[in-house]
Amino acid sequence: MQRTKIIDALKRTDFGSPITVMGWVRSKRGSKGIFFIALNDGSTIKNIQIVGEEQNFDEAVVKLITTGACIKVNGVLVESPAAGQASEVQAKEIEVLGTCDSTFPMQKKGQSFEFMRQHAHMRLRTNTFSAIMRIRHNMAMAIHTYFHDHGFYYFHTPLITASDCEGAGNMFQVTTKNLYDLKKDEEGKIIYDDDFFGEQTSLTVSGQLEGELGATALGQIYTFGPTFRAENSNTPRHLAEFWMIEPEMAFYDKTDLMDLEEDFIKHCVRWALDNCRDDLEFLNNPRLDPHLIERLEGVLKEDFVRLPYTEGIEILQEAIKNGKKFEFPCNWGDDLASEHERYLVEEHFKRPVIMTDYPKEIKAFYMKMNEDGKTMQGTDVLFPSIGEIIGGSVREESLDKLMAEINRRGMDTTSLEWYLDTRRWGTCPHAGFGLGFERLILFVTGMQNIRDVIPFPRTPGNAKF
Ligand code: ATP
Ligand code: MN
Repeated sequence: MQRTKIIDALKRTDFGSPITVMGWVRSKRGSKGIFFIALNDGSTIKNIQIVGEEQNFDEAVVKLITTGACIKVNGVLVESPAAGQASEVQAKEIEVLGTCDSTFPMQKKGQSFEFMRQHAHMRLRTNTFSAIMRIRHNMAMAIHTYFHDHGFYYFHTPLITASDCEGAGNMFQVTTKNLYDLKKDEEGKIIYDDDFFGEQTSLTVSGQLEGELGATALGQIYTFGPTFRAENSNTPRHLAEFWMIEPEMAFYDKTDLMDLEEDFIKHCVRWALDNCRDDLEFLNNPRLDPHLIERLEGVLKEDFVRLPYTEGIEILQEAIKNGKKFEFPCNWGDDLASEHERYLVEEHFKRPVIMTDYPKEIKAFYMKMNEDGKTMQGTDVLFPSIGEIIGGSVREESLDKLMAEINRRGMDTTSLEWYLDTRRWGTCPHAGFGLGFERLILFVTGMQNIRDVIPFPRTPGNAKF
C-alpha cells in the first residue's frame, strides 16, 4: 500500500504535494465546521494533524472517525500554522479502515497501569506503551551493535536443558508425558525413560554454562534470548519469562570484567539518549518520571563505584547505627536485599555500584574463589531504582578447585560432565555476566514495574495473551 509513514511525513517540506497517511486516531476535535484529527501510526510518538472541512465529507463517515479507529487519509501536505509542528495534512478523502466503538478499553487518557495490564494486548496502542516498545527495540539493537563491534559472536544456547543444577532459580519442567497417568518406580519417583528426551528436562534459567563452552572456543560470545524462572514471588522486578544477555569472555580477569560491564551499560544508555530522544522526552513527564533524562545523563558522567561486599556491609552497619531502618538483616554472609542495594546506590554513593567479592555461601558453585577461601569473585552491578541489573563473576578455571566446591555442596555432576570438560581439556581463565534485558528497559524508560516493559508479561497466575 502506498503511504507515507508519519515519521517521514513530519519531516517533509514539499508543501502542496499530495500525501497519503494511515494510522489510528488518537483524538478528534472540531470547531466551526472544521475537524482536527491527531493521527498516529506507531512510527513515532508524534502525531500528525489531519484537518478537514466537514462539508466536504459524508456526515456518516465523519461520525465513524472516533478515538482508536483506523483510517486512511488522502490529502495535501501543508505548512502548519499551529505551534510545535511543521506540517499537517489537509484531508481530501478519508476512508475508515477499521471502526472503533466506545467499548475500546484504551479510549480514555490517564488510565492506570494496572488497568492497562489487564488489556495488555491493546495497551500497545497507547503513547506510553508504544514509546516503551520502540525503546525496547532500540536497546536490542544497541546490544547487538556493541558486541558485534567488539568482536563478540552471537551464540545460541538451548532453551530446553537436562541439567538441573544451574542453580539460578526454580525451573519449569518440559515433558510430553501423560500427566494423568504417570509411571513411577518402586520408590515413587517418576520414570522419564519413555519421555520425549529420555530424561527429565526443563526450560533454561540461564545460558551461561553453554556460553562458557562457546567462550572457551570462540574467545568472546554473547547470548541474547528468553530465560525462564519459576519465581513464585510477585515483585516489580521479576518475571517468569524474561530476556537475558549473557556475554562470556576467555582471558578476562575481574578488572576486565568490571570494565566491560560498565562500558557496555553506558553504551546502552548513550544509545537510548542518541536514538530514542522523542520517546524519552515523552516519558520524561510529571505523571511518569520527571527526572528520567537527567538520571540517564548522570549515569554516563560518573564512574561506577567498585565496592567489595565486606565494605558494603560495613557501610550498611554504620547506617543502621545512625538510625537507618531496614526490613531485612544485613550481617556479613547475608544476601543483600534490594533495600540494601538501593541504599548504597541511591543514598550513600548516589551512583551505580559494582559490588565484588561476595561470601561463597550466597553465590553459585562456578565462581572463582579468592585466596581468603571465604569470598568469590562476583561482580554484580547495582543501579538506582532497580537494584541488581547485572550478575557477573570470574569463573573458576581449575578443575580441582571446582570439583572441591561441587563436592562441598553435595551436588550431583551426572548431568554436568560436559561442562566440566571445559576444565579438563585446555582450561583457561574466563569471566562473564548476565544482564536482565527488562531491568535495563526499566532503567531506561523510568517505568516502575517490570510487567510494563515487555509486551506480554508472564508472572505467577498470568499467562494471558
Ligand atoms: P535477583 O536477586 O534480582 O533475583 P539473581 O541473582 O537471581 O537476581 P542472576 O541469576 O544473577 O540474578 O541473573 C542475572 C540477571 O538477570 C540479574 O542481574 C537480573 O538483571 C536478571 N534477572 C534475574 N532474575 C530475573 C527475573 N525473574 N526477571 C527478570 N530479570 C531477572
Ligand atoms: Mn533471583
